[in-house]
Amino acid sequence: PDADAEADLVVIGAGPGGYTAAFRAADLGLNVTLVERDPNLGGVCLNVGCIPSKALLHAAKVIDEAAAMSGHGIAFPKPEIDIDRLRAWKSDVVGKLTGGLTGLAKRRKVKIVRGSAAFEGGNLVRVSHAGDEKTIAFKQAIIACGSEPVRLPFLPDDDRIIDSTGALELADIPKRMLVLGGGIIGLEMAQVYHALGAGITIVELMDQIIPGADRDIVAPLMKRIEQRYENVLLKTKVTKVQSEKAGMRVTFEGSEGTGEELFDKILSAVGRRPNGRLIGAEKAGISVDEGGFIRVDRQMRTSRENIFAIGDVVGQPMLAHKAAHEGKVAAEVAAGQKSAFDARAIPSVAYTEPEVGWVGLTENEARSKGIAYRKASFPWAASGRALAMAGSDGVSKLLFDPDSGRVLGAGICGPNAGELLAEVALAIEMGADAEDLSLTIHPHPTLSETIGLAAEIFEGTITDL
Ligand code: FAD
Repeated sequence: PDADAEADLVVIGAGPGGYTAAFRAADLGLNVTLVERDPNLGGVCLNVGCIPSKALLHAAKVIDEAAAMSGHGIAFPKPEIDIDRLRAWKSDVVGKLTGGLTGLAKRRKVKIVRGSAAFEGGNLVRVSHAGDEKTIAFKQAIIACGSEPVRLPFLPDDDRIIDSTGALELADIPKRMLVLGGGIIGLEMAQVYHALGAGITIVELMDQIIPGADRDIVAPLMKRIEQRYENVLLKTKVTKVQSEKAGMRVTFEGSEGTGEELFDKILSAVGRRPNGRLIGAEKAGISVDEGGFIRVDRQMRTSRENIFAIGDVVGQPMLAHKAAHEGKVAAEVAAGQKSAFDARAIPSVAYTEPEVGWVGLTENEARSKGIAYRKASFPWAASGRALAMAGSDGVSKLLFDPDSGRVLGAGICGPNAGELLAEVALAIEMGADAEDLSLTIHPHPTLSETIGLAAEIFEGTITDL
């Protein structure tokens, strides 16, 4: 009664989790208010994540593929890069999508409130924007406040040190860039900057890039970037960064000893941390762990019955498709349906060249948990389509239950690995076995055949490649 506004459901954050939840809840008849602190809807994914990075990666791919053709009889002149137009095109792609969301919200009568939301209690949020404050009373709420880049404490305050958001702004192309972190985001951005002319050094603490994926799946990418980049340093730590006029002096400590080097730019891509501690959750009686993650059950409910949480803020993997699926579940439960999040597998993809993707069980996970499996790998050197598109170093690996032949997981490296992974994700969800895949007629010549052929290898119907 004392609140400035009321809603059946308040959703905090308009990323892929939040907008999916808000739209679904509105479609199910709830009166929904969506609170977003940024001027545009879409969250990290649309504004400074998945979408702008894929636009720039597409540009990088065109440049790299054109260069690669010079060895096969088609030589292009060195590309002329107009960075302002490239940036404008990327912003245009983002703008089309975020603008589209505003239209979708309007059609569903989802009320959008601009500002930063914080709980005042179990049924009340306060929204602050540009000095203005207002309260919204709600029956139920969904927290979808996402995550932000981790900032290493020893990095100096210097404009030449950027995170993924800064990298996507594409302010300029440095001569020499250090990428801190050999995970998906660091490797994707490295690919873009390299194609646009920067010399790249990657430094990674672990003993392989993309530590979440199996080593054999990452190997073709590793081999290519070792040729392409100035340096790929594994098992190496950056211990000091000093700002100097000529650049940033970086001290490395690793298996190959200690060294110092000068870089024009540093991209810090060492991970993301959830925003769970920034929304006054304690005032609503919601428990948030030390790292800022909010714990939820399979219906996406927090420790408080009427408040749900979804997306990056509830845990790994921090991926847009996971956030969206969780958002749908939370909205349906809020509307009284009996939904639950019970995905058997969530695919992960690095959209590098070549792409690296995995879904379901990995060999690393199977070994560490003692899960029995048998694997079958189809090398892309035996795929006509892969050869015809310079992807012959790729591999499609499937993991099967040794007794039933059920598909447990897959790792794929090569062009379009992300697209190919969808077939295996479906196979896992449907409890398909090797025979289901091998008896499915895949179009020829496509990369998708490598999935059916890996299943045939498992069945023993192909023995000699
Ligand atoms: P977010 O997208 O983080 O959205 C949260 C929203 O909440 C933000 O808009 C924020 O402004 C708002 N907010 C936060 N606190 C408040 C508050 N108190 N009040 C009001 N609003 C608030 N994932 C993929 O699946 N595929 C990819 O290719 C991919 N590429 C990526 C590339 C980069 C460079 C980065 C950084 C991320 C990428 N991701 C990718 C990850 C993906 O962006 C996230 O997993 C996804 O955006 C998470 O969605 P979310 O809804 O949980 O939160």
